[in-house]
Amino acid sequence: MTHRPLFTFDNSYVRELEGLYRPWDPAPAPAPAPLVFNDDLAAELAVDPEALRAPEGVDILVGNALPEGSSPVAQAYSGHQFGGFSPRLGDGRALLLGEVLDVEGHRRDLHLKGSGRTPFARGGDGKAAVGPMLREYLMGEAMHALGIPTTRALAVVATGDKVLRETVLPGAVLARVAASHLRVGTFQYAASQGDPTLVRRLADYAIARHYPHTAEAENPYLTFFEAVMDAQASLVARWVLVGFIHGVMNTDNVTISGETIDYGPCAFMDAFDAATVFSSIDHGGRYAYGNQPPIAQWNLARFAETLLPLFDEDPDTSVRLATEVLEAFPDRYHGHWVAGMRAKLGLADSPAGDADLIDDLVALLQAERVDYTSFFRALASSLRGEGAPIGSLFSVPEALEAWAGRWRAELASQPRNLAETAAAMDRVNPVYIPRNHLVEEALTAATDGDLDPFHRLLDAVVRPFDERPGLETYATPAPAAFCDGYQTFCGT
Ligand code: AMP
Ligand code: MG
Repeated sequence: MTHRPLFTFDNSYVRELEGLYRPWDPAPAPAPAPLVFNDDLAAELAVDPEALRAPEGVDILVGNALPEGSSPVAQAYSGHQFGGFSPRLGDGRALLLGEVLDVEGHRRDLHLKGSGRTPFARGGDGKAAVGPMLREYLMGEAMHALGIPTTRALAVVATGDKVLRETVLPGAVLARVAASHLRVGTFQYAASQGDPTLVRRLADYAIARHYPHTAEAENPYLTFFEAVMDAQASLVARWVLVGFIHGVMNTDNVTISGETIDYGPCAFMDAFDAATVFSSIDHGGRYAYGNQPPIAQWNLARFAETLLPLFDEDPDTSVRLATEVLEAFPDRYHGHWVAGMRAKLGLADSPAGDADLIDDLVALLQAERVDYTSFFRALASSLRGEGAPIGSLFSVPEALEAWAGRWRAELASQPRNLAETAAAMDRVNPVYIPRNHLVEEALTAATDGDLDPFHRLLDAVVRPFDERPGLETYATPAPAAFCDGYQTFCGT
């Protein structure tokens, strides 16, 4: 039998970006035990799922063996964390193993998280616990199923190691796949190295990898910046449309590709409230649900600062050009969000008539703290004449009924019938999201060795639009007692 390596690597980052990484090997895991494999993602990478499950595959996924052709490195980056600049973050407990071309020819990073201390570990132990790594797996798959750009997990393997946090927890390694791990923080690090050619090399690399069309533009670097700006505007609009709160939008957690990265204290909102914060460390509400768009713009300003020398030879002109692009962010964001809201309301095909319809709905949801996810499904049901009257979700039913009358008038201007509209709404409004109480229950059980609740929840959220009998608990909001004071943690 001919020997076939598990992955076919082509490691452009290491080849082209000397100075932005340190070669490093993963720490051994004493007793690897696989917890979950992503066969769907393995297929995208043209990896044989059986080979991944074999002991040699598991050893690679947990960092006990290096796959043929890999060149493991800890990537360097800086970052503004809660507004304060940290010049040297980098992969403290993670490694880029290399890059794989997927079945569509797209270059994907294969990365391990929780694989031991690196030169960037600072005070950290380099480890990750089972709960947070399964959380990242689950959230990434849920986001992917919702059609939102995201990094994804290929597997989680328990290490057999103990991790000391508030309590002693079982350790795990997550194998992560990403369009790349280039971050705003990577540019901030490059800009701080005192070598003016480094940012240019990094920008050229990012352009070639993610936005090749911008290389042809009159001002390639400015057009590249605008493309990243638009990718982030679109991404954050998608988060807001599904009620997702990232929780730690530091510049090291903002990708150049426009993928969601680093599922730490993230969570989906149940009751609608723009001020919702779940993260235990976000005391000021900097990364609250409703604050995500302006924070994305702030992060993009930090990105622009690193690119200024590339925009124009004249510093004043550079600042003017960057400012023009940055100032377009709110409109770009709003355009993506409105298009998404119109789809959620079944209005995608009609010309905008009632200009205040969407804003008035948001104000009603906010005033009544309605369960955001259930609301849109209930709205579609109301078109079919099913379910409780839509007004019953509100303490003052008349307020919503008046709004619903305006919405129905808007729908009437569309050629399609109400059943078709309801079906279109159900294709964009999830019935199953990873609700916080179910995530906590699943992760607690998994930490104690029972993976069944995790797999059941995963099965629900990977087909989020497809309502199935027997899964009612996955579509039901948490009991009020759970929501009061619910907090998420960074999982470090
Ligand atoms: P994060 O909050 O996961 O985005 O991580 C922020 C920074 O802290 C990154 O540089 C991480 O590599 C580093 N870090 C987080 N947890 C650990 C850990 N347990 N050991 C070493 N470094 C860590
Ligand atoms: Mg991070």
